[in-house]
Amino acid sequence: MPTLVMKFGGTSVATLDRIRRAAKRVGVEVAKGYDVIVIVSAMAGKTNELVGWVGETSPFYDAREYDAVVSSGENVTAGLMALILQEMDVPARSWQGWQVPLKTNSAHSQARIEEIPTENINTKFAEGMKVAVVAGFQGISPEGRITTLGRGGSDTTAVAFAAAFDAERCDIYTDVDGVYTTDPRVSPKARKLEKIAFEEMLELASLGAKVLQTRSVELAMRYGVKLRVLSSFEENDETAGTLVCAEEDIMESNVVSGIAFSRDESKMTLISVKDKPGIAAAIFGPLSDAGVNVDMIIQNIAEEGLTDMTFSCPTDQVKRAEKALNGAKEAGVLEFEELVADTEVAKVSAVGIGMRSQSGVAAKMFKTLSDEGINIKVIATSEIKISVLIDRKYMELAVQALHDAFELEKA
Ligand code: ASP
Ligand code: MG
Repeated sequence: MPTLVMKFGGTSVATLDRIRRAAKRVGVEVAKGYDVIVIVSAMAGKTNELVGWVGETSPFYDAREYDAVVSSGENVTAGLMALILQEMDVPARSWQGWQVPLKTNSAHSQARIEEIPTENINTKFAEGMKVAVVAGFQGISPEGRITTLGRGGSDTTAVAFAAAFDAERCDIYTDVDGVYTTDPRVSPKARKLEKIAFEEMLELASLGAKVLQTRSVELAMRYGVKLRVLSSFEENDETAGTLVCAEEDIMESNVVSGIAFSRDESKMTLISVKDKPGIAAAIFGPLSDAGVNVDMIIQNIAEEGLTDMTFSCPTDQVKRAEKALNGAKEAGVLEFEELVADTEVAKVSAVGIGMRSQSGVAAKMFKTLSDEGINIKVIATSEIKISVLIDRKYMELAVQALHDAFELEKA
């Protein structure tokens, strides 16, 4: 029998009624002849509540007990889903992570999946079970303790099962009907994409992270798992939602597929640093030691042996960055005149695999922004992405103008 993985997120299993609706969808796939592996999240809000309880109990909690508590939400939905499927006369059984077993490392609360042996579940399929309902987000460590995979980890569970069981597809049911060219709340012209390449999805993480845990996309890319994101609140046909797939499966790729943005960026400039070998290391070493996620970097042309170095990082890391750089100055390992932080910037990016073979995207992007009178502060590019830092107050305008300029509303 071909295998299908169907994952239902928290909003899709938020109530018994919604679990029933989800179960109906599972029944439809079973009727088509699939062996189905259903991965469930906890009911919406449940994991937050559990995390909150742990925090209230002890600020310095034992991560093993954190996992014991927060993994429990998924146990409830897995059991309920199995019961409801049985009521529908669909042979179903629930599986907690340890029963599969989904083996992880010992990094409690952020565990990585190491192996999913398929024997136990396959034996039950062979005996007539049609649906394995697996509690997402959880596994078992080499020490035999329950682990969890980090917030949003059920997506990763789902993709890992699809890879291990060589599933035909991994359908991710959520509360949006797919991946959009940009956030519809920012540009009303945003259009749902039929297909998107894994790499684009990763670059669009600022939009997509709400839809898919980034790690699940990385995993899907590595194992070539076809992912479909679709709504559990709408009637779907074979073409519903957005297919996240390999580049080769996309016949005509758009030059630009989406406009991503991130509001909470800051720009930091070190004024008058010495232009000599080792200077970048002296700056970015302490920043990395302090856990600052540096994104874009520019170094100006030197004059009289001095230069300015600019970089961007998330706004909530500015204080940490200042502390690290001033610390390095005090310790005598770094010289600069002044450190200037601009915390009112945003990053806007155009993303598309078509950029690899098409030139002129950058020029068009810059022209569009200039026509709107938007000043570009920093530019960075990769093979499939061009990003600019601009004043935050122009972010919406920039996203809308770029969405128009690249005609993303058209299929
Ligand atoms: N329930 C977990 C969370 O809320 C895992 C998941 O739903 O993906 O993070
Ligand atoms: Mg999620």
